[in-house]
Amino acid sequence: MAFILSLDEGTTSARAAAYDEQGRVLAMESSSFACQYPHAGWVEQDALEIWHSQLDAARRTVARLPAGEIAACGITNQRETTVVWDRVTGEPVAPAIVWQCRRTAPFCAELAASGHAVTITGKTGLVIDAYFSASKIRWILDHIPDGHARARQGDLLFGNIDTWLIWKLTNGAVHVTDPTNASRTMLMNLESGEWDEALLSIFGVPRAMLPRIAPSSAVIGVIAAGHLGVEIPIAGIAGDQQAALAGQACFRPGLSKNTYGTGCFALLHAGAKRPVSKNRLLATRAASATTAPQFAIEGSVFIAGAAIQWLRDDMGLIKSASDSDMLASSISDNGGIYFVPAFVGLGAPHWDSAATGLISGITRATKPAHFARAALEGIAYQTRELVEAMEADTGERLAELRVDGGAARNNFLMQFQADILGCPIVRPADTETTALGAAYLAGLAVGFWKSVEEVESFWRADRRFEPGMSTSDRERLWSGWKTAVGRCRL
Ligand code: ADP
Repeated sequence: MAFILSLDEGTTSARAAAYDEQGRVLAMESSSFACQYPHAGWVEQDALEIWHSQLDAARRTVARLPAGEIAACGITNQRETTVVWDRVTGEPVAPAIVWQCRRTAPFCAELAASGHAVTITGKTGLVIDAYFSASKIRWILDHIPDGHARARQGDLLFGNIDTWLIWKLTNGAVHVTDPTNASRTMLMNLESGEWDEALLSIFGVPRAMLPRIAPSSAVIGVIAAGHLGVEIPIAGIAGDQQAALAGQACFRPGLSKNTYGTGCFALLHAGAKRPVSKNRLLATRAASATTAPQFAIEGSVFIAGAAIQWLRDDMGLIKSASDSDMLASSISDNGGIYFVPAFVGLGAPHWDSAATGLISGITRATKPAHFARAALEGIAYQTRELVEAMEADTGERLAELRVDGGAARNNFLMQFQADILGCPIVRPADTETTALGAAYLAGLAVGFWKSVEEVESFWRADRRFEPGMSTSDRERLWSGWKTAVGRCRL
């Protein structure tokens, strides 16, 4: 068997990739799907469309490989996004509620002010927020006929996108998730790695609808032959950010990465002991290559590359996301413009559902280039907020930051990130680390790769960005950003 297949279901597209024994990508196909914004702050997707997009990308990838050569498949996914479906028909009972969706913010605000807050945060390591799945599941059960009763009887199933895809790929035979995804539902006890009765009861989520939590690197089922032409073992599962941590070969405590996709997610591997953040970051599970639990500290920013997408699709300022690079570089400074993309409130470290987006400092001299530059700089400032919180949690300065994700290809952004952090940025040769990480987990489970050391040896830097900005410029800009963030909060 010569390849590992990886299915990488992101927020904007579903990708499939095949890797050889050196961890080199040999084929990659993608298929995008729609996102709906039916009300302010609401974000929805069609779970069946996601499934068809993923299957389409997987079929086109497999078609480029010699038949019968796939040793195993790994799956990684946008996390927290919530699907509830009918066990018999396999039809979703409501649109998938996407991780960015704020519809449950009022419920979460009540919960945060209640006596349950300490229990929830203590057990899950999470800050109470509409971001996580539990309040989204409850919302669906509240808004469909007999939702709670049907869920209690086991007629309805819940899954994040990993679970949903695996259920489809196995023709309904396997209902499973892994600790990295489960740790984002707000229903899993972070320490034990199991669904927690007290949390299920707080959120009113029946156990009967929940998947089994299996290890991230283990054979958990087989893709039915009808989908990709042959049966393929499913041997790896991880939420996209934990998969990216693995794909960056960060399997050990102290190693960290930042992914620049729709949002921005900085993860620091914390080893075998559960961390506690004192600076409004999250404690979460890292994907373990064995059955022993591994943990991470995470900072999550909701809108990063999505701000560039907005400039392209809604404002019509650029034709492609990569145009933002040249446009931002065409001017020598930000012209006093700051863009805080709080389109769905603010995530870490603010956790403010009520914040709205803001572009400040506009004058008659402001040009489209300033908007592009301010959008990219806004991504880097948000990352600095995460890194500062992480440094405060660990008491150590970051030595360098490994980066990946679609927007990490933007050289202006990477240089500005190094400048505003005052720390080197290292971009690997393969920036599709999410897909790669899921492949590693699957390949390690079936012995395609023999050890974590072997996959660590595949990591290669493409380019290093050294900080070049003076301290006074850095702190002047940083203080401008902090003022802008203050203004967008009510
Ligand atoms: P996801 O996995 O969240 O779907 P990706 O890692 O595929 O995201 O990255 C896509 C995001 O990155 C989009 O929001 C897009 O606007 C942004 N993006 C892609 N290329 C660039 C670029 N060259 N410069 C800035 N942003 C980019």
